[in-house]
Amino acid sequence: MIYLAGIQEDSIVDGPGIRTAFFAQGCPHRCHGCHNPETWAFEGGTGFEPEKLLEIVEANPLCHGVTFSGGEPFAQAEEFTKFAGLLKESGYEVASYSGYTFEELYDAKDARRDLLESIDVLIDGPYEESERSLELAFKGSRNQRIINVSASLTAGEAVVESSDRWLGI
Ligand code: SF4
Repeated sequence: MIYLAGIQEDSIVDGPGIRTAFFAQGCPHRCHGCHNPETWAFEGGTGFEPEKLLEIVEANPLCHGVTFSGGEPFAQAEEFTKFAGLLKESGYEVASYSGYTFEELYDAKDARRDLLESIDVLIDGPYEESERSLELAFKGSRNQRIINVSASLTAGEAVVESSDRWLGI
């Protein structure tokens, strides 16, 4: 069961194209200036089976990509890994935000590494209010990176996404 604070269909701010965004309930990072503090508590949220969430995505013919946001999706890594697998089988691009860095997830000895390996794009790192900018495509603060996960796993280090789509061009 995945516990969600909300679902945003037809989102154009959580990655390129028209996407469905899933906001995880629960976040351990507590970034100063977080825009979604109502998602911090691990109690609450609404529980969904991954198969049900796939149905929601597939019911929208305009949707070609999916983004996990939060909250912290990697705090529910096992269930989000299952969901990411279903989405990939159905041909969707899967991106996820995380308050963890790529390096933390790459070195994780738990299901967070599995989730990292299941997605296409990671927008990493906590929101840092001192680095806030409204001019960044798909990011809240300059410290965050948009990472090509496949290229990064091959290289063994973070490779920043260079496609025009993700650069917001
Ligand atoms: S990681 Fe995201 S949801 Fe969690 S506190 Fe930071 S900005 Fe808020």
